[in-house]
Amino acid sequence: MSLAPLFLDAGYRPGIVMASLLIATLASYVTLDLSLRVRSASGPLQTIWWAAGSLVMGTGIWSMHFVGMLAFVLPIQLGFTGLMTLLSWVAAVAASGIALHAASRADYSARAVCSGAIAMGIGICAMHYIGMAAIDLSPGIVWNGWTVAASAAIAVGASAAALVIFRLLIQVRADRRIYLQLLASVVMGAAIGGMHYTGMAAAQFPQGAVCLSAGGLGGSGLTAIVVAATCMLLVGALFASILEARLQVVARQLSQSLQESNAQLKTANEELQHRAFTDVLTGLPNRLFFETRLANSLQRLEHVNQAAVQQQIAVLFVDLDGFKPINDSLGHAAGDQVLQTAAKRLLEQSGAGNTVARIGGDEFLVLLEGLADTDDCVAVVDRILAALASPFEAMGTALQIACSIGVVMHPAHGRRRDMLIADADAAMYAAKRAGGARHVLFEPRMTADTTDALQLQTDLRKALERGQFELYYQPKIDGRKSRLSGMEALIRWNHPILGTVSPAKFIALAERSGLIVPLGEWVIREACRQMAAWSREGSHLRVAVNLSAMQLAHAGLVKSIEAALRTHGLPGDRLICEITESVALEDLEVTQRTFHELQRLDVHLSIDDFGTGYSSLSQLRELPVRQLKVDRSFIMDLESRPDARAVVDAVIKLAHALSLTVVAEGVETTGQRDILLRMGCDELQGFFYARPMPAGDVLGWVADEPVAVPRASVFATIG
Ligand code: C2E
Ligand code: MG
Ligand code: MG
Repeated sequence: MSLAPLFLDAGYRPGIVMASLLIATLASYVTLDLSLRVRSASGPLQTIWWAAGSLVMGTGIWSMHFVGMLAFVLPIQLGFTGLMTLLSWVAAVAASGIALHAASRADYSARAVCSGAIAMGIGICAMHYIGMAAIDLSPGIVWNGWTVAASAAIAVGASAAALVIFRLLIQVRADRRIYLQLLASVVMGAAIGGMHYTGMAAAQFPQGAVCLSAGGLGGSGLTAIVVAATCMLLVGALFASILEARLQVVARQLSQSLQESNAQLKTANEELQHRAFTDVLTGLPNRLFFETRLANSLQRLEHVNQAAVQQQIAVLFVDLDGFKPINDSLGHAAGDQVLQTAAKRLLEQSGAGNTVARIGGDEFLVLLEGLADTDDCVAVVDRILAALASPFEAMGTALQIACSIGVVMHPAHGRRRDMLIADADAAMYAAKRAGGARHVLFEPRMTADTTDALQLQTDLRKALERGQFELYYQPKIDGRKSRLSGMEALIRWNHPILGTVSPAKFIALAERSGLIVPLGEWVIREACRQMAAWSREGSHLRVAVNLSAMQLAHAGLVKSIEAALRTHGLPGDRLICEITESVALEDLEVTQRTFHELQRLDVHLSIDDFGTGYSSLSQLRELPVRQLKVDRSFIMDLESRPDARAVVDAVIKLAHALSLTVVAEGVETTGQRDILLRMGCDELQGFFYARPMPAGDVLGWVADEPVAVPRASVFATIG
């Protein structure tokens, strides 16, 4: 006689089991997708993604569980109580919330993964066993403790695997991610299914048991709920994948535009390099190039003279006499023609191996090398004087001009090597004062100016304690919105005798004496004080200050900025620090360190005088910079020179590709403004809008101008 079995025979419908595994895989895929989204979002968006993610993932796992239950075949009819079913769904959503939270944190240490996995595992088990408790069976289900434990272990293990997979996923490039994500979804789906079916294997249904909840959810009711939930999940998956596809398109476009911009980057870099060393009008080298040449030549000279062959070099400062009236009466085109011819003649007369540069307006420098003595030099100088004295042809007119030449020889004039250009300049002035059309050899008495500089330096030391400095402010205008976007603070020195002294005169002096550090700190404090004062009057202006090289390298800079912001209760992003391009790239490591510290304060960083530092744009990528200020020299040429337009256009495009905003400096005309606006330049600054003005005039200017001023509510939207 055989004993009746204690438990009911259970079986599975294989088709529905497959469907439940498919749902688990799908749920995993969507979940991974949403976790990525939660990770990359910030602020309220992150919370929204998290909530949506928890809902979809929870519903997915829960729906897998109930489809799994549909696949389960018992000889008696099963049903589920509504309340417990609902509770199991809540548990699934809660577990998913925990999971998403754990995945979106940056912490993937073993400890964090373990605690995340345990929390998730408990959540999944809670969902499953609450779901089982929704079956009101009499007598109750008999559980096999070991198998229950195994199912819990699978839940925790699967969760840990999911977290680790997720970590791998975020390290993979976006375009390769899909395969890993698919694989991960299959692993996770199998793990969730494994947990469910192990959990089911732990349940034994006694012979003769009656399901008291058979009239509750079950059969077609349950199918409807599960189908609805699965549909929701599918829609979620579809939505996420459409979004993903869209993002990929954007990413592809971005990478394409970056590739294009790399090509542009190269041309623009070459153009910038070229421009950095070349005077566009005459094609001659510029001052920067000349200085490099001079430094090399001095080095060579030292070698040669050590070998006891006494050689000299000469620097000639050539300034045209009577050029300005030509420019004024016949126009710039005629002036340009004269300059081009003068450049050609200078080149012809200077002879091979020597250097001719144009350093601005009608000023040229000539470097003569390998001279035996002064006579040797004067012979060339006389040839130049004669060549420039012969008539010029411009706009069909013959024009007569002349030139004054200052000459300094080295080592004959025995002066400091780094002052050669300044000395030649002083000699040129002496030639001008003597009536022009001649050359003058340098003599030390000509540099009374240098003594002035010493006096200025002494005055400068006292100026800070005597409160002789003042900040002027120049508006920056948002190109698209014609709205004031901020101010640049520019320092002025109210000298008791000399009147207002421009920074161009004294900043270099202050740098040389180290005074720039306390002076710079004063500028930062004063700018913050002024911003706070304007805020109190309802104008929330953003102010940019200029930092010098020495400040950048000074250890106290970040602290003093932090203190000034704190004292005046200002958020970091109200302050912009401008650093001249050449300074920023001088010591990239120092700049990087300081910039990153300033970024931590949320202070915005801007590269000033961009285009003058012959930097490569790619170097700028390494700095957390927000803004480029295109140098005035480019803006000046916008209307007359296609090459300047091409460079500015390329710089704007590249800057935008690197997510930087572009400010044009020195906008003086409507024409320049229009060209810049067409190119999509973000901000404009220059005399066209306003000259730098004392702080006291700013609010009056704002009231009189048709530009809107950011009030508190608007300010928040300025990026
Ligand atoms: P920057 O930072 O490039 O400032 C722009 C300069 O261009 C200012 O000269 C401004 O007055 C002038 N500018 C603005 N719009 C136009 C225009 O349309 N046409 C012309 N021709 N010029 C225009 P500023 O005030 O003489 O300053 C010269 C430089 O001195 C500044 O160049 C900056 O590098 C430096 N500087 C000014 N204030 C400070 C400061 O507080 N600290 C430091 N370290 N440097 C400063
Ligand atoms: Mg500036
Ligand atoms: Mg500038």
